[in-house]
Amino acid sequence: MKIMISACLAGENCKYNSGNNRNEKVLQLMVENEVITVCPEQMGGLPTPRVPSEIRDGVVTTKDGRIVDAKFRAGAAKCLEIARREQPDLIVLQSRSPSCGVKQRYDGTFTGTLTDGAGVTAELLMKNGFKCVDVEDLPGNGDLILTLQMGRENRRV
Ligand code: SF4
Repeated sequence: MKIMISACLAGENCKYNSGNNRNEKVLQLMVENEVITVCPEQMGGLPTPRVPSEIRDGVVTTKDGRIVDAKFRAGAAKCLEIARREQPDLIVLQSRSPSCGVKQRYDGTFTGTLTDGAGVTAELLMKNGFKCVDVEDLPGNGDLILTLQMGRENRRV
């Protein structure tokens, strides 16, 4: 099985603050599967560390007011290119990120307030038919059968 994942979930220090979101369920999936890690923000040319960003009125903006939308969307486009080429069985993304969030994201006020909606990369992948799974929805104990069911629509033939 081939899995595409947010790189920070694999322990890569690519978060805005140079940290990661290492996740034990993801690490378990990585043991017996082929894994492709992507960090759309780094792939779009943003540095690490970087000022945190949120989506405000549809435009990705940093906490200090700079518009970084083009870089976020460039990273999303590169992730889509990789997904089309690699055809992952499953895509697992970090929750609430302005890039990787699948179901929710912060609302652009930098007050910790959540709103429904995806980050720019998750949105682009889903619009192109790739089913993305929020890491918080992964079943426990490495239940690969259930995980495969969650991701089976990812396979594009
Ligand atoms: S862009 Fe995605 S992979 Fe990169 S640090 Fe943010 S959540 Fe993780």
